[in-house]
Amino acid sequence: MSIRGMGMSNLRNGLKDAKRIVIKVGTSTLTYDTGKLNFSRIDKLARVIADLVNQGKEIVLVTSGAIGVGVGKLKLREKPKIIREKQAVAAVGQCELMHIYSKFFSDYSHIVGQILLTRDVIENQERRQNVINTFETLLDKGIIPIVNENDSMAVDEIKFGENDTLSAIVTELINGELLIILSDIDGFYDCDPRKDPDAKMISVVEEITPEVERCAGGVGSKRGTGGMATKLSAAKIATFSGANMVIASGEDPEIILKIIEGKNEGTLFVSKKPIPNTRVIVKDDEM
Ligand code: GLU
Repeated sequence: MSIRGMGMSNLRNGLKDAKRIVIKVGTSTLTYDTGKLNFSRIDKLARVIADLVNQGKEIVLVTSGAIGVGVGKLKLREKPKIIREKQAVAAVGQCELMHIYSKFFSDYSHIVGQILLTRDVIENQERRQNVINTFETLLDKGIIPIVNENDSMAVDEIKFGENDTLSAIVTELINGELLIILSDIDGFYDCDPRKDPDAKMISVVEEITPEVERCAGGVGSKRGTGGMATKLSAAKIATFSGANMVIASGEDPEIILKIIEGKNEGTLFVSKKPIPNTRVIVKDDEM
């Protein structure tokens, strides 16, 4: 198993230099067990991100919650099962979600912009470049891009399905140096901590070996869609694109600051190649 003891603090310390950072939060971080929004956590998340932008970091927030927030707003008892109902609920929830983010971020003097993605956008070269241009322009202007899947449009053929993968793809698109996935589990374990009291959290994964993949089997989260397996496939995308990735608990968003300070929080998946530094914006008239 690729657990690194020696040199670990160097790997952790390297996170201090990350300028372009993608942060992913799931529905389980944004809501209480009741399904209602956890305002103090969202407020703290906005404060931490605003603070990082003030330090000169470029942050992209990938957020779930459209369906969860829509269910709350429409006072439904549960998530609808029919696709078009789910999509309608997401349309309401996404609005509300952005309203809340916009409100909290403006309390800290920051502006947000919404980007909703579907898989086909990423797969089509021209549309992909357009999205990259939008990200670059927003970041250039100091605006915080907030990303979700376009749940009101997405059907199976064009769906990411969960935001762990989406956040890794966004990291790849913008040449991010670090992806932080906040979850209701505090890291990556050598076996399922909900079933085995002896499960140990792995601090650093240098190589995603078949043994590491076996560890991921079946560990899911309570209210989100992605389990450990989707986090591991996100780790593959992110680390192969040249980013480090950390999975950590979303209970206290200040953990983001600790991760960036190089503290031993959550599990670090180490980048497989040097961080790319060529960020190309293709001008409209060149396309
Ligand atoms: N896009 C979905 C939503 O906003 C969530 C996907 C996920 O939980 O990963 O509700």
